[in-house]
Amino acid sequence: MLNLVQMVLLGAVAGFTIFIGLPVALVRGLNSKQRGFLNALSIGILVFIVVEILHSSWETVSSSITAALKGTGSYGTALTLALPMFGGLALGLLGLSRYENIYMNKFQEIPASPFRIATMIALGIGAHNFSEGLAIGQSYASGALSLALILVVGFGVHNATEGFGIVAPLTGEKHRPPLTFLAKVGVIGGGPTFIGTIVGSMFFSTFTYVLFLSLAGGALIYVIMIMYVAGKKQATNDVLMLGVFCGLVLGFLADLGVSILGI
Ligand SMILES: [Zn+2]
Repeated sequence: MLNLVQMVLLGAVAGFTIFIGLPVALVRGLNSKQRGFLNALSIGILVFIVVEILHSSWETVSSSITAALKGTGSYGTALTLALPMFGGLALGLLGLSRYENIYMNKFQEIPASPFRIATMIALGIGAHNFSEGLAIGQSYASGALSLALILVVGFGVHNATEGFGIVAPLTGEKHRPPLTFLAKVGVIGGGPTFIGTIVGSMFFSTFTYVLFLSLAGGALIYVIMIMYVAGKKQATNDVLMLGVFCGLVLGFLADLGVSILGI
């Protein structure tokens, strides 16, 4: 059984794998096809996680609705769970989109430097990583330890590829970005997973469990869409689908690994 400190440390690891991808800005070897494949690999892992997360939150909601219909539960409980389910989804999808619109508009008034664009991407990634941390923490607090661990593994691998996304605008630059800059965007993008894990594991209620999971699910669907658009510019659909396939398989294997370990 993991204790809280171990869980929070795992949450930190899941976020800070973003640093694995950041040094890509320093090496110039990867071509756009390879970057497209890695991008799609990350999409595959995310699709797996979205299914896993929304299944877990919906299971709670649907059983409370059926209980209310059968007379073994109350309609009030069913309603207080359906609300965070759909509210969380909407907030994850529309919230990130609003956030990006507002930030984008502000940003268009200032001259765009690749460094500014990279910082902006890191902020967007940080916002969705906060919801990833909330989902990890809340799964842990609910006692769904295997779900919490699968989220750590899945988010960890996926966040490693987020580093590429952040530094992508810098890859065309003549001068290598300073290490302090990479450290800064790494903390902005990856730190929120750690903070989210702490916030999510502090307390548990079925309401916040459903809300945080749905919120993360919605935010991830939003991110998947953005990543796909970016990937289409990098590689052909054949390469992208191969990457998505490999990512999905990785997700299932990680899940199997956690089951075999019996956690
Ligand atoms: Zn992420």
